[in-house]
Amino acid sequence: MHILVTGGAGYIGSHACKALAKAGFVPVVYDNLSTGWAEAVRFGPLVEGDLMDRAALDAAFAHYKPLAVMHFAALSLVGESMTNPAKYWRTNVNGSLNLIEATLAAGVKHIVFSSTCATYGDQDGVTLNEDTQQMPINAYGGSKRAIEMMLRDFERSDGLESVIFRYFNVAGADPDGEVGEQHIPETHLIPLMLEAIDGKRPALTVFGSDYPTPDGTCIRDYVHVCDLVDAHVLGLRWLQADKGSRIFCLGSGQGFSVREVIEASRVVTNRDVPIVAGSRRAGDATSLVCGSTRAVQELGWTPHRSTLTQMIGDALKWSRQPPFAK
Ligand code: UDP
Repeated sequence: MHILVTGGAGYIGSHACKALAKAGFVPVVYDNLSTGWAEAVRFGPLVEGDLMDRAALDAAFAHYKPLAVMHFAALSLVGESMTNPAKYWRTNVNGSLNLIEATLAAGVKHIVFSSTCATYGDQDGVTLNEDTQQMPINAYGGSKRAIEMMLRDFERSDGLESVIFRYFNVAGADPDGEVGEQHIPETHLIPLMLEAIDGKRPALTVFGSDYPTPDGTCIRDYVHVCDLVDAHVLGLRWLQADKGSRIFCLGSGQGFSVREVIEASRVVTNRDVPIVAGSRRAGDATSLVCGSTRAVQELGWTPHRSTLTQMIGDALKWSRQPPFAK
């Protein structure tokens, strides 16, 4: 019942491990701990290794004989991907190619892959679903689209079946407080906002107030990390039931502007968010809102925790706990 979980020491991967363990699987985390946390590996063994280390990957497959792979390990910062695209293409694309080759060499034919709404680019006013054309505007989105294409090619050549999830903005934390979001440096809106509320940073900078949206700030679709990982377990079962490769978008179906998220945080915490107006962040799309009908209808997914109130509340609780140590 082993599942190899690359990036399982990271934010989404660690929540996926908890969901897998709850569903009766044993998550084997494969992670180089470059951005993840050993302390977040609580639901199965940790293999410390890099995706570029083929011998270490082969050894992990040989030792644990996983039924399938869940592939979270990646660099995922839009801003950084604009200034250092080589890092993104090298780590995400080369690393995934190495993983796919090791997966096939081990005779494993099922992979669940973390893709992103950043593969769509800037398609103002459109609700994005699985049929929407992908036109990435940053190297992060470009690298993820390339991996999606790679998976398609390896299905044709070797019968590797994949469930690809295109995530919208993942937020919140495990309500039990066992795992949560911890990035160094932190770049994401909700944790930064909570740090500003708690006086851990002077203010939140709002990146751009001149977007063509009702209040001038970017619109995103936020999905609770626990809902997101539930879909991964459903995706794994989908592959095990021989339903074949499929792409699913995962979001709440509702868009909120940066200002609306700030207002929701004020209400949840009963504290004002200190903000300063900043310029646009390179690579940011105006609006990314998900049409998740396919995941709901075909996987039976119910994203019932994905309200701003619950996501901010769970993130707040987590942010006030002692942080992970390496
Ligand atoms: N954002 C912001 N200030 C910050 C961090 C983020 O205004 O300090 C905005 C960002 O421009 C985007 C939204 O918040 O419109 C969500 O950004 P985040 O980095 O959380 O996720 P992304 O959309 O890049 O995956």
